[in-house]
Amino acid sequence: AGEKTPASSRGASRRVLMFPLPFQGHINPMMQLADVLHSRGFGVTVFHLASNPPDPARRPAGYRFVPVGVPADNLLPTGSDADFAGALLRINERLQAPFQDSLRVVLEEEEERAAACLVVDSNFRGMQVVAERLGVPTLVLRTGGAACLVAYMAFPALCDKGVLPLQDQSQLDMALGDLQPLRLRDLVFSATTPHETMSTCLERIVESARHSSGLILNTFNDLEDADLRKIADGASVPVYAIGPLHKISTGAQSSLLAQDRTCLDWLDKQEAGSVLYVSFGSLASMDQEELVETAWGLANSRVPFLWVIRPNLVQCSEKVGLPDGFEEATRGRGMVVSWAPQQEVLGHHAVGGFWTHNGWNSTLESICEGVPMICRPHFADQMINARYVQEVWKTGFELEGKLERDKIKIGVTKLFDQAEGEVMRQRARDLKNKATLCIKKGGTSQTIIDLLVNSIMSF
Ligand code: UDP
Repeated sequence: AGEKTPASSRGASRRVLMFPLPFQGHINPMMQLADVLHSRGFGVTVFHLASNPPDPARRPAGYRFVPVGVPADNLLPTGSDADFAGALLRINERLQAPFQDSLRVVLEEEEERAAACLVVDSNFRGMQVVAERLGVPTLVLRTGGAACLVAYMAFPALCDKGVLPLQDQSQLDMALGDLQPLRLRDLVFSATTPHETMSTCLERIVESARHSSGLILNTFNDLEDADLRKIADGASVPVYAIGPLHKISTGAQSSLLAQDRTCLDWLDKQEAGSVLYVSFGSLASMDQEELVETAWGLANSRVPFLWVIRPNLVQCSEKVGLPDGFEEATRGRGMVVSWAPQQEVLGHHAVGGFWTHNGWNSTLESICEGVPMICRPHFADQMINARYVQEVWKTGFELEGKLERDKIKIGVTKLFDQAEGEVMRQRARDLKNKATLCIKKGGTSQTIIDLLVNSIMSF
């Protein structure tokens, strides 16, 4: 690729293959990356589970969608209590053969616009092995933050030292030296996954990075500079921090659930910075008691709120729902939807705080809009993200321990309090400015995208 070729058409003769992990928090950044590469002229072929098809109508020409496996093969785990890591390992095993078939067909069919590489989710080491077998170079997309990957890379050494697995609950608050400000509890990624399974799962993620021709992260230098440097040292492959992807891509939707846009009209009627947005992402769940405590915590805080209760948020044997009296107590002041256009909600001037489970996308989306957070991590990398929000970026604080209405009320009041919340709001505004700068022409993420495009052209 010559330096004089316009950036928008550099990829014109090439196609990039992509295979996202089929979960909302992984599909979104992969499709945003697809948009970025598409806007640089690349054709895009997206592999997806036959049981979980995306909506091609939401994408422009130049995209192709290829099913892997058969629709009846539903491999996806549900609910945050499932053994998620175990399920990931099984998906990797079960998908290898059908993916190899699909990949082979695509490589034969698309000769005139040759596949430059496969961009694969970092949880898909199995698919990377298939690509290696067929001679296709791979890039790995890590949809989590850099801090989390640094912790994953340190995991085997902590096991060797006997620090992990956790021996005794009294060690939960043990500091982890180099991984400061993380504590041992932040590395207990799941209550239900056996240690061996978790170890293997993390090992595969790190392996995928080391075996790739480049590691792409949805973060930006000014946010995670030190951790990005640690990754570059440890991974020995080029590292591309090109986020926040949702701010760079065209914004085409890849939501699996229908978004209720009426909440934007409701937000239009609220005062600037007055509303608490409450959402726990696409996988985290709560029990009926936690739902009731959350409801009364929100009602008693007297702050306007927009609360996402997705269909499978509450895991309990019988359907009970919101408590009696909740609707009357919050009429005119609260809105409940089953799925929201989250990025637009966070960008809305009425929203002044986000009670989140700290999935990486939600965390990054909140940072980019300068919205301070109440953190309530559930599993996986969420504890690490929450810890960074509280201790490093200082744009929020964690609500720890059992979920109780009074604790929630105190937390919400603190976030919206003029004096106490002001420091967090100022920090949040500063980070928003940094996020805005890095995606401008000449900004770090834009410059790194140029490097990534050149690298793809060289494959
Ligand atoms: N999301 C959304 N509407 C909602 C809740 C979430 O569009 O009501 C989106 C959100 O913007 C984010 C993704 O779903 O991009 C959730 O990803 P995240 O990494 O935060 O959490 P996960 O669902 O993977 O736990």
